[in-house]
Amino acid sequence: MSYIPERHLCSQPGRGRLLLKLSMVLVLIMPTAVKVTGLCNGLTAGSFEKASEQKELYISFPVADAQGITDLGRLVSLDMISGDSAYAYISPHAFAGFASYGIPFSVLRHPGDIDFDPAMRSWDDIRNKDLTGNWDFYPEYEAYVELMYSFQEEFPELVKIYNIGQTVYGRDILFAQISESPGERRDVPKFMYTATIHGDETAGFILSLRLIHHIISNYGKDEGITELVRNTDIWICPNENPDGTYRNDNSTVAGATRSNLNGVDLNRNYPNPVNDPWDELQPETEVMISFTDTMNFIMSANMHGGTELVNFPFDSWRSDQKRHADHKWWEFVMREYVDTVHKYSPSGYMTGQGGGLTHGGDWYVVYGSRQDYFNYYRSCREFTLELSNQKLIASELLPDIWEYNYRSLINYIRQSGYGLHGKVYDNASGDPIEAVISIPGHDELGSEIVSSVPFGNYNRPLLAGDYNIVYSAEGYEDLFVEGVRIEDYQRLDVVIALGPQVSGELHSIVMDVEGEGYVDPFQGQRLYNSGANLSLEAVAEENWEFDRWVINGDEFFEPDMEVSVDADLEILAIFSEPLSVYDPGTTVTKSQLRVYPNPLEQNSVVSFEISEPGVFHVAIYDVWGKEAATIHKGFLQAGVHTMGLWGFYNHIGPGVYVVRLSGAGRESVQRIFHPGR
Ligand SMILES: [Zn+2]
Repeated sequence: MSYIPERHLCSQPGRGRLLLKLSMVLVLIMPTAVKVTGLCNGLTAGSFEKASEQKELYISFPVADAQGITDLGRLVSLDMISGDSAYAYISPHAFAGFASYGIPFSVLRHPGDIDFDPAMRSWDDIRNKDLTGNWDFYPEYEAYVELMYSFQEEFPELVKIYNIGQTVYGRDILFAQISESPGERRDVPKFMYTATIHGDETAGFILSLRLIHHIISNYGKDEGITELVRNTDIWICPNENPDGTYRNDNSTVAGATRSNLNGVDLNRNYPNPVNDPWDELQPETEVMISFTDTMNFIMSANMHGGTELVNFPFDSWRSDQKRHADHKWWEFVMREYVDTVHKYSPSGYMTGQGGGLTHGGDWYVVYGSRQDYFNYYRSCREFTLELSNQKLIASELLPDIWEYNYRSLINYIRQSGYGLHGKVYDNASGDPIEAVISIPGHDELGSEIVSSVPFGNYNRPLLAGDYNIVYSAEGYEDLFVEGVRIEDYQRLDVVIALGPQVSGELHSIVMDVEGEGYVDPFQGQRLYNSGANLSLEAVAEENWEFDRWVINGDEFFEPDMEVSVDADLEILAIFSEPLSVYDPGTTVTKSQLRVYPNPLEQNSVVSFEISEPGVFHVAIYDVWGKEAATIHKGFLQAGVHTMGLWGFYNHIGPGVYVVRLSGAGRESVQRIFHPGR
């Protein structure tokens, strides 16, 4: 593979009205000639009809001749401008229209027409292969589908495969959901990777498959990967345009095309804030839009080939015209991506436009890209990742591309867990609310985010800084929260109640656990607005029991309770282990100390089992630790013992008490409640 930086514009559409500007601007900023191989003899317009029998042509023509031809973008998908030549794809349905302009052009060898063996593998070839470290092949189409479902079969607790819809030809567009609860929604950020929207740009196809395999086979072994899966809902679609990739035949990627079967460039086919697509929405585009509309993805990337760089929003404007509100955050995460790649790759790799990092429109303005659709309409931070100068890359080079990129791919997913997170809910009902969460004076062009049901959660990556935030929802007054401090590589949770009697003043709530059990809200620190009602819930682990809450030093004994937030709170849930009788010899026997019925009745008993004979003390204490009653004190044989509590029941007043069994060097306790007679 050559690492000579090429200035390829594969993801940058050539809308006609732009060509005038491109011819004047881009030629000036791209003085270096690009070596184009495979140049064929030029065809005249006369022989074009013959060429039009082909599925898609790759052509070049002089940029100067494109000046003033505003409709050209309807006809060709501009791939690259080099010197005074434009390189573009053209589909059969556009041949006649293009020819009518009389522009002299040359037909080049199509990037999908490869002269090497793509190392195609059938499902039989792949199924028994140890895939770890062996991703140097392309799967046949059916093998790709089988491989995706095999991930689900092998790791059903981590993967679910979704077939979100069909291509023009009827091939499947597949997503792998990687989650600790596949098939379910969780209160975590949703992240998406997709690849090969241009069917002949195949590096991302294999990298995506390998990334799925890497994550699920390292879950539970690699702490960083395990934590990533725990904290993120990861969705990966390895091939958005299988009709393009398998254009010739399901058995090979040779002959792959950029466009879909209708000859449409799908990365020019999305709704756009400036200029909607020329072509009607294609099935592949409709499927992706309707699926992602339901998902509230917060970060994503779309993998391409043809050059080596990262390209962040917007494509529709140069950065001196309009910028993403989080432009500096984009520069920060893109710099992290590229610097990490450079650390693990030979010099020259990923050094395209801008040294490998560019604002989309500064490289080349484009309309209808998926990147702008997600950023502008879906509040999702998406960038375009260009993985290899060679579009349909030789299979033996795929492991190198993986090695250079996989750390960056994982780091980028991890960024979705940093920044501002939280929930929005109705303070009266406790129901989650779909609210708009925006930063006045900062947000624009679709950068504000929304909280989503069923959890009311929101997730927003943000650069370190102090932010003022507004929470708005229909039927509620806007709530202003000032001075929220965000740190890089950290997560801050701000939980907001909307409704009467709340304010934007924030209090810190710290949840902690002693013993073994779960609490809701889960452990950690988060901020709540003043007046919020906080519902606490404690659930003991098996063989453990909830003992009490300690809230700013005060004790509470109901596992489910409500707290009104009007100050900073430190909340501790204490769980106790009912019985552990310790044999100081060689064995430890665990057994449950049980009191039932509890709350106490006249006939309640305490029951426990001991494994060795010895001296034991069974007594009841009040919450201040004072002994309220002795049930037994003395020698006991090994075995199960059951003792009535009627004497205690009849002589002690209502309240919370603790039964304690001690002896053989260990003690065990259980909380009981006396409701009064
Ligand atoms: Zn592309």
